Amino acid sequence: MMNYNDIFENHLDNLRKEGRYRVFATLERQCGHFPKAIHHNTDGTSKKVTVWCSNDYLGMGQNKKVLDAMQNAITQYGAGAGGTRNISGTHKLHVDLEKSLSALHDKEAALVFSSGYVANEGSLSTLIKLLGADNQKPIVYSDELNHASMIHGIKSGVCEKKIYRHNDIAHLKELLENSDTARPKIIAFESVYSMEGDIAPIAEICALAKKYNAMTYLDEVHAVGLYGAHGGGVAQARGLLDQIDIIEGTFGKAYGVMGGFITGTRAVIDAIRSYASGFIFTTALPPAILAGALASVEYLKTSEIERMRAHSNAKYMKQKLDNAGLPYMKGDSHIIPLIIGDAKCCKAVTDILLEQYDIYVQPINYPTVPKGTERMRLTATAAHSIEDIDKMVDVLTTLYNEHEILNLKRA
Ligand code: PLP
Repeated sequence: MMNYNDIFENHLDNLRKEGRYRVFATLERQCGHFPKAIHHNTDGTSKKVTVWCSNDYLGMGQNKKVLDAMQNAITQYGAGAGGTRNISGTHKLHVDLEKSLSALHDKEAALVFSSGYVANEGSLSTLIKLLGADNQKPIVYSDELNHASMIHGIKSGVCEKKIYRHNDIAHLKELLENSDTARPKIIAFESVYSMEGDIAPIAEICALAKKYNAMTYLDEVHAVGLYGAHGGGVAQARGLLDQIDIIEGTFGKAYGVMGGFITGTRAVIDAIRSYASGFIFTTALPPAILAGALASVEYLKTSEIERMRAHSNAKYMKQKLDNAGLPYMKGDSHIIPLIIGDAKCCKAVTDILLEQYDIYVQPINYPTVPKGTERMRLTATAAHSIEDIDKMVDVLTTLYNEHEILNLKRA
């Protein structure tokens, strides 16, 4: 007789052997104290730690305007949406939020999803389905380091997928040149690559898209709120909003709440609204989340303080790491990855940081990043102080000096 449980245990054992079994840190974020949080150990003890891997880049998860909006929404509208968007679940706040987002990106329309993941998966799979309607398989050109949600969306549509080397314009051009001109095409890419900390050559990709008549789909999940005069993302910062057909984002990172969205022309947004299964057949986001997201988006359209602080903190930290000679990946974004290159070693280093220095960084392993490139992904948010940064770099310097980090092993 087949023992189903043993099959699952074997899979888990494999993960443990490779050192990439995921252990979640149990945290209590304390309102008003970010980036500090309480960390709960498995033995029942707890202590205060500094979080160095949060995506709440601007500390908006504790912004007073956002909190007030969410609390008022619960008092006024209650807890849940009460239905899917199609059946009684569309709140006026959905409509207001979508208007705010289309204005943010100078687009005709926007659509809110339950997460950035669902937005990517649902939008890309639906675009492929709709573009392929005339028995013409669309071709999707996808950066090799695109997020799992985009990969999943592309895989679940019937298309030909061409993967180009990360941010490699010459490779993308070569793939486009050798493609059937008559077939529909989508170039799917991100602005800020959150595991590398680098930024795509958006203008060059758009120029190729124009030349080869391809649609552009840009994931700005790690950029919205944080880049551009109004927090619209890197395309806004570079004056390229009109070159992108669909911009995708999240409320879960710099906006500090949760939920995802896309913006584009009225026709493309209406088509995705009408055909995307992941949008249609699920309960709509609740009013408190919508109110928080709307307050955050509107606030960051005008407030510059948080953006300036986050960027100056990242710059300061990179300078300190340079001075200390520590090997971080030198991208143009606010994200600072430190390559360790071995799953067990990466876990061991982050364990030491937590146990001995009260610093929490989650080790990043395969499949999030390729094997052999395991890393710590550091985020100096707007909420970190100069003292926090100084301490972190000092501690890292000590670890590198004391442990010859790449050889560091733990029993
Ligand atoms: N796109 C990218 C590049 C991401 O890194 C993530 C999340 O980690 C997502 C999409 C999904 O966004 P969300 O967390 O809102 O589901």
